[in-house]
Amino acid sequence: MADLGAFRAEVRAWLTENCSASMRTPMPEAETVWGGRNETFVNPDSKPWLERMAERGWTCPTWPTEYGGGGLSYDEDKVLQQEMRRIQARPPLQSFGIWMLGPALLEFASEAQKREHLPRIVRGEIRWCQGYSEPGAGSDLAGLKTRAEDRGDHYLVNGSKIWTSYADQADWIFCLVRTDPDAPKHEGISFLLFDMTSAGVSVSPIRLISGASPFCQTFFDDVKVPKQNLVGEVNKGWTIAKRLLQHERQMISGIGGASALGGSGRAVEDVAKEYLGEQAGRIADPALRRNVAAHRINDLAFQLSLARAADEAKAGTSDGNLASMFKYYGSEQNKRKFELMLEIMGSRSLGWEGGAFSERELGTTRQWLRSKGNSIEGGTSEVQLNVIAKRVLGLPD
Ligand SMILES: Cc1cc2nc3c(=O)[nH]c(=O)nc-3n(C[C@H](O)[C@H](O)[C@H](O)COP(=O)(O)OP(=O)(O)OC[C@H]3O[C@@H](n4cnc5c(N)ncnc54)[C@H](O)[C@@H]3O)c2cc1C
Repeated sequence: MADLGAFRAEVRAWLTENCSASMRTPMPEAETVWGGRNETFVNPDSKPWLERMAERGWTCPTWPTEYGGGGLSYDEDKVLQQEMRRIQARPPLQSFGIWMLGPALLEFASEAQKREHLPRIVRGEIRWCQGYSEPGAGSDLAGLKTRAEDRGDHYLVNGSKIWTSYADQADWIFCLVRTDPDAPKHEGISFLLFDMTSAGVSVSPIRLISGASPFCQTFFDDVKVPKQNLVGEVNKGWTIAKRLLQHERQMISGIGGASALGGSGRAVEDVAKEYLGEQAGRIADPALRRNVAAHRINDLAFQLSLARAADEAKAGTSDGNLASMFKYYGSEQNKRKFELMLEIMGSRSLGWEGGAFSERELGTTRQWLRSKGNSIEGGTSEVQLNVIAKRVLGLPD
């Protein structure tokens, strides 16, 4: 405990020195830093903030130091997160590399692959996208058809992926491909990494209901991928694919875990007081006050459950399939939050564009629409319920 106390003091002093005032404010979506070759750093202060955090390995606090990570214990990482929250420090980097690929590489990649890719993820130099879903393979992911043919020193990849988030901005893709079309469907899949600038890769953006185009259909025409970019064994990629999905589901449950915050990063009750008025410090509308209170209580219970599961994972007693429970609950909770925000804001939540509505109001409308995707991305809510029934509760098919 004494060590942790000293660590907390060190973190606090370091943050005071290195986290500038503008990095201690709620982050507008446009200022999110995703890293990669195309990052423009809309807020110039976010560049030194990322560089300083990456230098300490604190963009990936618990990854081993030999791969650029912070080498922190679980408890030290908790302290770091608490201290960052205390000053409302922005996350320096959002990254599929951090949330999904990195943990899978740590478990399954060769030493050379870890040394090549992990430090670049830590520093935010390479932005990754996820090539899993295909036009005919979503929930039935193992039905994927993108082919990778063995051509001696390389694979020749042909096919297409769909709903590839940020494929148009990503530098590299982690991709599921079929390497044995004659094997049972789960057994002929491999896990490949390749550069999105490779000859034969093209992308076509798809517009979402929220008006943004954050995802694409991605096409591969005779893309040559060096053999050393295969992670794990050939035809054994399904195990890696499933583990990565657990990391993705954990990350999405975090969206629900932050559900107490309204669209603008403000607490839901503060937004309610602004739109509905206050009576003796309480939200004036009694019915909505009850709904906000119920939502906050569910948030707190959920956050405690996430913390308990994290402790169990640390103790090695956790079941990876719990990620499906949290993914299910977190995404449903996030959707409920935005429904509640709409009830609170009334007609102020119905703007699409134009000067009659504030940026924050317009942002909330679009985030409400975007939240609908939470129960689809990373595996639908129905699919999570199937996993929970089968793998957590042990119910028969
Ligand atoms: C915002 C967003 C971002 C995404 N980003 C990516 C990405 O970066 N990379 C990527 O590869 N994919 C991505 N996806 C795709 C996502 O993983 C798929 O949409 C999802 O797995 C569902 O597949 P599908 O769309 O083909 O729907 P389908 O599988 O066709 O499902 C249609 C409906 O049938 C239901 N259903 C299907 N099978 C069952 C079953 N066995 N039991 C009960 N109900 C069932 C589903 O729940 C759903 O309601 C993203 C999706 C969204 C919405």
